[in-house]
Amino acid sequence: MRDILESIPIWLYLVLVAASVPLGCLTGTLGGAVTPFALAAIPTCAAALSGQRTTAMVTAFAACAVSLAGWWFCVGQSGGAACWLTPAIGAASLLAIAGMILAVMEQLDGDIAQLHKQTTQYVRALYERDKREEQRAQQSAGTERPGGPHAGSGQLSQRETINFAMLLLTLQDVAQRISTNLDLETLVPTILDTARSSLKCQSCQLYFWNPADKTLRRADSGKCRDNPRYVPKPNQGAARWVIENRQILTRQSVERDYNLRSILQEDPSMPDAIAPLTVGGELLGLLVVDEVEDSSLTFVRMLYILSHNCALGIKNAQLFKRIEDMARHDGLTGLLNHASFREELDGLVGQAEADGSPLAVIMSDVDHFKKFNDTYGHQAGDHVLREVARLWRAVMPDDAILGRYGGEEFVCALPGSDLERARELAETLRQHLANQVLVFEGQELRVTASFGVAERTEEIASSRDLVRVADEALYEAKQQGRNRVVCYVPESVGLTSGQAPSL
Ligand code: GH3
Ligand code: MG
Ligand code: MG
Repeated sequence: MRDILESIPIWLYLVLVAASVPLGCLTGTLGGAVTPFALAAIPTCAAALSGQRTTAMVTAFAACAVSLAGWWFCVGQSGGAACWLTPAIGAASLLAIAGMILAVMEQLDGDIAQLHKQTTQYVRALYERDKREEQRAQQSAGTERPGGPHAGSGQLSQRETINFAMLLLTLQDVAQRISTNLDLETLVPTILDTARSSLKCQSCQLYFWNPADKTLRRADSGKCRDNPRYVPKPNQGAARWVIENRQILTRQSVERDYNLRSILQEDPSMPDAIAPLTVGGELLGLLVVDEVEDSSLTFVRMLYILSHNCALGIKNAQLFKRIEDMARHDGLTGLLNHASFREELDGLVGQAEADGSPLAVIMSDVDHFKKFNDTYGHQAGDHVLREVARLWRAVMPDDAILGRYGGEEFVCALPGSDLERARELAETLRQHLANQVLVFEGQELRVTASFGVAERTEEIASSRDLVRVADEALYEAKQQGRNRVVCYVPESVGLTSGQAPSL
């Protein structure tokens, strides 16, 4: 309400005041004497409620002047004798009302400002007190015991306050570090580092939740991970409770709460806290925190904020990866698309050039595929393309880079393979494909494909040349009758092998 009144400009209040007087004169029932003052009081009160001193006073004085003029006009019209008592009371009332409202508004503003100041001082005092207690606790912990799962929690657990200042400072840092990282590989160590420093804990593990088979998987890579004292099991103890209830569970709360005690019997080595990582009701994983220095309320609040930020960061990174994957892969077969394959091949060519290792490329094209589509329909054609991609994956080695080069054309880069090895692999795939019966909607389908193979040499050094000569060999395979493998040899194209029996 006040915001609306504040946004009204002073001239509009003056216009309303000016308009109220003729209206008052026209509708005046008490001899036209009081009505102009009564109507002018409405914009005057509104201006005062806006809390702006100048606007309120200018409007009040303008209302007095205009109302007096209105009263004078009304008296003249009625032809009666002018009595100055009524307008004097009217004008004084207008000024008094405006003044009173302004005074109350200023008093309220002062109280609110004082409240803000007190809150800030209180937060500051809490922060200072917590800091002093923490230093004291650290000093005594240093003399009593050097570490341990609940180091320092003896004194600190008694605290019932939340260090809001600390929370705000950490939240800013956590949000900045986690929300800007879109790569899951680097996000996980960032989350663990941030959690360790902001939660002041020695051990922190992140587990990804797989809803399909209801399993938990360690998120950090093998080389940099430590061996945790506790491994959460989704169907047991504390981890099961967190997965089912999607709430933070601390060891302290389990020890204190009679209803939760059974968790400790089932899971005696339960860590200091387990937090679910959820986004919009979807569980993404668990954050397992152990060996905390301070398990006060500040810790629980911090864990709550941190787990929510981590979950958002993970969800963002997962979505980003999905979009990136969709952009790099062909939707029908799941193989790399043309552009991504060329990118990968460039990298492999650079690597082969640097270490002198062999690199071969196989290009392939399904034979008479147009006729196949015309005969069985495009749905059957799509099914065949998916099956061909599956065969490629099954036959080629794990380090092979597979791509769908175009419509029914496939391509494969084989790092570490020479021409002969690539030819063998292409021949195996050709035979598999030719002998495979592909069933689609009850129909038994067969297709064959032709293959062109080339190896990187000093003459065929670039990825562009390598693909070009493999394509030339493929063309030769088509020319020679299809369903065969042709290798590109620099002197003469047409080293043919593995011709299939006629189908
Ligand atoms: P060739 O043996 O000489 O390769 O003959 P072809 O018929 O396979 O060659 P052509 O290039 O004339 O035809 C390729 C066909 O592949 C045409 C097109 O209908 C089909 N095709 C391309 N992409 C897709 C796809 O994603 N799905 C289906 N079902 N067909 C596709
Ligand atoms: Mg083609
Ligand atoms: Mg074809």
